[in-house]
Amino acid sequence: MLFKNSLKFRINKLVVSIVLLISIVILLAIWFATSRHANTQLTRELEVGHSVFVNSLESRENLLVNAATVLTEDFGFKQAIATLDSATIDSMLNNHSERISADIMLVMSLDDKVIGKTDTLTTASGNYLTTAIFDTVMRDGGLITFNLINGKLYQSLFLTVDAPNPIAIAMVGFEMDQKLVDRFSQLTTLDITILFDQDKSSYLTTLSSADADIVLKANLRQQEDTKQVSSQHLTSQAFRLENYPQFSGYVMLTQNTDLLFKEFYTLIKDVAAISVIAVLVALLLGISFSKNVTKPLERLSVLAKRISRGDYKNTIELNNSTTEIADLSVAFKQMQLNISEREKTISYNATHDMVTGLYNRTRLLELVQQGIRDNNTFQVIAIQIHGFRELNETFGYKVGDECLQYLASEIKVKGGCTARIAGGEVIWLPDHKLSLENIVDIQSELERSILVSQVKVRIKLVIGIVSVNDNTHKNSVFDEAEDVIRSLSIAASHARITNNNIQYYLPEQEAAYIQRIEVLYELQHLLESENKDELAMFYQPKMALENDKVDKMEALIRWNSKKLGFVSPEMFIPIAESAGIIKSLSQWVIRRVVRDLSRWQLPEQQIAINLSAQDIVCGDLINYIDDCLAEFNIPMSQLSFEITESDIMSDPQRAINQLNKFVEKGFTLAIDDFGTGHSSLSYIKDFPVQTLKIDKAFILQLDQNEDDQTIVKCINSLANNFGLSVVAEGVENKASLDLLRQLGCQYIQGYYISRPMPAAEVPSWLEQFHSKKEC
Ligand code: C2E
Ligand code: CA
Ligand code: CA
Repeated sequence: MLFKNSLKFRINKLVVSIVLLISIVILLAIWFATSRHANTQLTRELEVGHSVFVNSLESRENLLVNAATVLTEDFGFKQAIATLDSATIDSMLNNHSERISADIMLVMSLDDKVIGKTDTLTTASGNYLTTAIFDTVMRDGGLITFNLINGKLYQSLFLTVDAPNPIAIAMVGFEMDQKLVDRFSQLTTLDITILFDQDKSSYLTTLSSADADIVLKANLRQQEDTKQVSSQHLTSQAFRLENYPQFSGYVMLTQNTDLLFKEFYTLIKDVAAISVIAVLVALLLGISFSKNVTKPLERLSVLAKRISRGDYKNTIELNNSTTEIADLSVAFKQMQLNISEREKTISYNATHDMVTGLYNRTRLLELVQQGIRDNNTFQVIAIQIHGFRELNETFGYKVGDECLQYLASEIKVKGGCTARIAGGEVIWLPDHKLSLENIVDIQSELERSILVSQVKVRIKLVIGIVSVNDNTHKNSVFDEAEDVIRSLSIAASHARITNNNIQYYLPEQEAAYIQRIEVLYELQHLLESENKDELAMFYQPKMALENDKVDKMEALIRWNSKKLGFVSPEMFIPIAESAGIIKSLSQWVIRRVVRDLSRWQLPEQQIAINLSAQDIVCGDLINYIDDCLAEFNIPMSQLSFEITESDIMSDPQRAINQLNKFVEKGFTLAIDDFGTGHSSLSYIKDFPVQTLKIDKAFILQLDQNEDDQTIVKCINSLANNFGLSVVAEGVENKASLDLLRQLGCQYIQGYYISRPMPAAEVPSWLEQFHSKKEC
């Protein structure tokens, strides 16, 4: 079955079938053409033989007529008959017969008595004139016929001897003997059989007795039909002699078809032999051709099987193949190469990160799992680009990707294994244990300004560390790589939220982490829902020290969650920032503050709104503020903004560019929490701000802490030099207030003046405060 379906078998079958078919068609065509030709020839030969035979008989007949006429008209001969002079008659008959070589001559009286004869007739028993012959001769004066005399067949002419009435009948005859038949046969090139009567017993023939039997049998069945009759190898045609009505026998001309068809059969045999040879040659050629075609195909199929088994290295060389097979082979090799390349790419992609070329999550998990299995002690370090999301949003993903690539390449050269799971983070498994100092060094080495896509970006990093199987760390034993990665994100998240830039994983971070997840979940829901009643704005006054009046306040958000209770902004604001949902929160704050301003109708009050770094980079926030102010008809001068120093310092140049847009619009800006963010003094002159807000950490114990006093003093003189006003927040007592007044601070804010209050209380509080002062 398999073999029958094979290409080799089919090619051979096709070639042999074609050759066989052609041979059969040729053979049939030859057969029909030659047999038609042979039959035509046969018919022609029989026709020609027939006319030659008849003509020969006629010429002999003429001889007989001439001889007989001369004899019967001879006066002496008539006289001899009249006188019954037998001797003269015999002598004349002998002379005449000799002259025309007649075999027999005789003269009969009208009553059928022989009155003279040639010597050739030894016994003249008489009875030569049958009634039919006699009547015809008497009526017509003559008759030509065949007749049997003494068992011999003669072509005989009977003629009356007239004086003037018939007195006798003369007969002249040529014997039809074997010699004559042979001569006729030579003349006609056919076998001749002369049947003396309808009975086949007496006849003359040139055929062998066996052939004569065949011919006679066949023709007797056909009786006297002149149609051709074929029997075995003989074809014959019988005909009666029309000029001899008295003769009841007939003549048969026979052709030996074996002889006629001999050459034709030879031709057929030759063609058949050639056909057999052609079939064999075709078969051999077919085998060789199919081998040429199928061998390379078989080898290619072996190659395909190898490829399917994933063997792309071994190739198969195909020699002496046709162009098509060679092309196929080239295509196969190319395919092999392409599949191998693609497989390499697929397996590379399966284990690598597309952006950085580092290992991906799958591979990282494998490596960590391997380390756990081998009971190795190793560190897993997550190095995150701080504010990666804003980086992408401000400069586009290309810049973000390039920053990541920078980070990846810098860490990769430090050895060990590097991977990226997602976001702006590279995970590093150093090949030796790193101390905290080492990590701090690496952090400060990597945190620098880099130029990517013509943008100068300052990279700030957040680092989370997990130690695995390290005795010096508690809870460093892990069973699953997933747990290590989870702990790593807890550490990194902790580092990010607490602004504590390098953070080892500690189990106690888990609770805060889970809490953060809860807070984030609730906050997301709240921001998505229509009803945001859980949120409220509180306002904390800022008192101007030059006149002890409150003309500025800070807007502070409050969240009283039904599920979680009161959640401090210090808790949920960093979560909202790191989850990227601060923008919608800020929009809610801005709209609520502007709405409150419009309700209060206190045009001399300026409200400061806290913005986070993401708010600043978000280009359309200014438009949103504009829209809100326009909607509630509030002048721009009633709003100002505070931005924490650490936000600005993570990328000062970028912050300057963004803050300029606010200043250009006409808003006043303050640097919040000043003194904590390690500001470079060189930047301060470039910051487009009007106010420095000293962090409450330096104010809360100002009256007792001389260091704080020195710091506040420095900040004040710095601010004065740059023409900036100073706000001190966290003033809780009069002593601190007095100190700040001495140091030349412009505004103070703190519980000493007032705690943050709900919006509704602001107008009455202000009224009360100012009326108290006036008193
Ligand atoms: P901040 O901008 O430094 O706000 C001042 C914080 O100090 C407020 O805490 C305020 O209640 C507190 N404070 C004021 N005076 C005193 C004092 O005399 N003693 C003490 N111990 N604390 C005082 P709050 O309201 O919890 O806000 C915490 C932080 O949350 C804020 O720090 C600010 O960074 C952020 N925040 C609050 N509201 C918003 C907001 O609407 N948007 C954004 N982006 N951040 C906000
Ligand atoms: Ca503030
Ligand atoms: Ca502050």
